[in-house]
Amino acid sequence: QRMRNYRECRSDIDKLNTPFLEIYESLVPPEEEKAKQRHLIASLEKLVNSEWPGAQLYLYGSCANSFGVSKSDIDVCLAIEEPDINKKELIEKLAEIFEANNLENVKALTRARVPIVKLMDPESGISCDICVNNVLAVINTKLLRDYAQIDGRLRQLAFLVKHWAKSRGVNETYRGTLSSYAYVLMCIHFLQRRRPAILPCLQEMEPTYIVNVDDIQCAFFDKVENLRDFGAGNNESIAYLLWAFFDYWAHRHDYANSVISVRTGSIISKRAKDWTRRIGNDRHLICIEDPFETSHDLGRIVDKFTIKTLLEEFDRAADVMQYDPDPCVTLFEPY
Ligand code: ATP
Ligand code: MG
Repeated sequence: QRMRNYRECRSDIDKLNTPFLEIYESLVPPEEEKAKQRHLIASLEKLVNSEWPGAQLYLYGSCANSFGVSKSDIDVCLAIEEPDINKKELIEKLAEIFEANNLENVKALTRARVPIVKLMDPESGISCDICVNNVLAVINTKLLRDYAQIDGRLRQLAFLVKHWAKSRGVNETYRGTLSSYAYVLMCIHFLQRRRPAILPCLQEMEPTYIVNVDDIQCAFFDKVENLRDFGAGNNESIAYLLWAFFDYWAHRHDYANSVISVRTGSIISKRAKDWTRRIGNDRHLICIEDPFETSHDLGRIVDKFTIKTLLEEFDRAADVMQYDPDPCVTLFEPY
């Protein structure tokens, strides 16, 4: 049983607020980087339109969900309405077009779970991955971006958590640790559960945005400009929240029985989702429900070895936040 008695936060926690906020500021991409990305998308869209006039390019992932650090690669989705679309052929055709127009490192990855074409724009130095008709990714990007506009502490917390995860080598899905998307959902859920709450549950409110994707209905309240004061009743500082976040994942989360769910703003039971045992390659050792694809556990790639690594890292981070004289340095030390 991993749960321990409540421990109180160190008394000097708020002294750490300024240095943590400085780290956050240093990670935020400058405005000119965003402008370069938009410029690249516009010129790629022109190339694509020469072949498919109605097609559109959307940014998704960290360059559009407001949780992207400076100099990340960008994720792009091509939205195209064509009957009987063959994604593999389409990806190959795209690669041909880009290659013929001076883009570099062009590569069609047609056998991946999500087929993509990769490229690098020599003018801006930006690399991007382009997928086809991945509408849910564009919608979950919007959900994350909308949450970020409600309370600034979400973006600060998520940047620090992602920075920690990258520094400590636990943000590598191909090795069995968690995706950035999963970490951001963990942060949203955590802030929904503070008392008083810092974030609402947008999917439980009267929907103002409704889109159907295949058999999944995506519906949530998206007039977030009306929710700017939502978290005002809670004045927990970012240093305190970071401490509490790691304390939660190191000592309080019930890994055996609980699923975190941003969709409901609550914890649901593994039993209710039938996520109690290994099915195929899905082991459900840490359970994070996707807000729209609710049968999808973002923790399913975590195995019996990497769950240990994750728990050790949560423990270490919680201890650093509790006892270390200089957590702003020690927390992010390379592993
Ligand atoms: P990074 O800064 O590390 O690139 P990111 O926000 O781009 O972070 P990724 O994990 O690379 O995060 O994912 C990119 C986007 O792809 C996510 O924002 C999300 O829209 C979508 N995505 C990623 N993983 C999943 C998943 N397992 N299920 C559904 N959508 C996902
Ligand atoms: Mg990305």
